[in-house]
Amino acid sequence: MRPGALENFFFDDVHFALADSIATIARERCAPIRDRFESGAQSEDAAARAFVKELGAAGILELCIPEDFGGRFPVLDLRAICAARESLSYESGFADNCFILQGLGANPLALAEKELLCKQWLPRVAKGSAISAFAVTEPEAGSDLANARVSAVRDGPFFVINGVKTFISNAGVADFYTLLARTGAETGHRGLSMIFVPADVAGVRVERLRVIAPHPIGKVIFENARVPVDYLLSTEGGGLQLALANLDIFRASVGAAACGLARRALDESINYTKTRVQFGKPLSEQQLTRAAIAEMATDLEAARLLVYRAAAQHDRGSSKLTRAVSMAKLFATEAAQRIVDRAVQLHGGLGVTAGSHVERLYREVRALRIYEGTSEIQKLVIAKSYYE
Ligand SMILES: Cc1cc2nc3c(=O)[nH]c(=O)nc-3n(C[C@H](O)[C@H](O)[C@H](O)COP(=O)(O)OP(=O)(O)OC[C@H]3O[C@@H](n4cnc5c(N)ncnc54)[C@H](O)[C@@H]3O)c2cc1C
Repeated sequence: MRPGALENFFFDDVHFALADSIATIARERCAPIRDRFESGAQSEDAAARAFVKELGAAGILELCIPEDFGGRFPVLDLRAICAARESLSYESGFADNCFILQGLGANPLALAEKELLCKQWLPRVAKGSAISAFAVTEPEAGSDLANARVSAVRDGPFFVINGVKTFISNAGVADFYTLLARTGAETGHRGLSMIFVPADVAGVRVERLRVIAPHPIGKVIFENARVPVDYLLSTEGGGLQLALANLDIFRASVGAAACGLARRALDESINYTKTRVQFGKPLSEQQLTRAAIAEMATDLEAARLLVYRAAAQHDRGSSKLTRAVSMAKLFATEAAQRIVDRAVQLHGGLGVTAGSHVERLYREVRALRIYEGTSEIQKLVIAKSYYE
């Protein structure tokens, strides 16, 4: 990994070494899966499973799980996770999604300290033999999660679950969902809890959605699905708190994924402009091209500083992370959008030609400004922190 802004700041040697080894694995083992999928030779589900299998075999999924349950570090090391995401998304946003969803979906088990479920599932998630999903969004509750309506009603030793979740990544390939559901009569966040739901329980079905960049995603529909009350992860009424604590850990890493996509866009642009000749000389020797490259590179390095600062704060145990994490996510995803758009422009017609790297990056970068809290919601969070 090119150290850039990170030199002498936030990384320890272990992070540079890790980033380098993951970059090699991404190039040698993930890029071929990406190419098979992009050429139409492999389905979305098959590609997702192939990425998870490769990442599991290479030991990279261990970064998403605490050491006690088959993971790499005693507690999640956010700089390692961010470095992994930057390296993976440099090759494939799809591979990066498959990586991080193993953490996002499974970590509520660890946060809730559910020993039995952790022992049963987390080592499999770390090896890539089980796939996880995090199910909080609903058709009427996106940014406003406190309005979630999926219900989980007690019936003896079971919860009976009804309702619809939407935009759930890994819907259809996941082995389990960590679900935000209403277990109490109280309105707002007080009635919400988190529950573990195996995907093969009767009464759980999936309707797939298609988004502009590859990744398995869909609605998850619950029709009298029954799970044991022992599968309650949070306290009753503590579900939104647990879901937000989980998101707080992973949100900065969305910025790292954005940096990986942006870094690839920058590299593609530098290489292309060296060889494309117009008006008698390469584009790289035209001053407006140089201005574009300078602005892209500066945006990228600023984004990386914010992302890895937030990650380092997390790893050093800072209790006040929310502002730094939201700034990192907001700035890096918006910057990556600008950088990728500039890359498309620098490639001219080739930039929008199906099958080119920058065309893929253009599709892959867009959703990052929406999921795990839109840019607007990050702004509200940042501003609020200055009035508290
Ligand atoms: C590719 C992808 C993957 C996803 N994966 C998952 C997943 O795995 N699990 C999961 O649970 N969810 C997932 N989501 C859902 C995602 O988290 C939501 O789409 C997101 O939180 C926004 O919710 P919404 O789509 O309902 O938009 P809305 O909340 O309806 O927002 C629409 C617009 O209004 C703006 N807005 C909302 N409130 C305000 C306000 N108070 N002030 C100003 N502007 C506001 C928003 O910023 C946005 O621009 C995924 C989404 C995508 C696109």
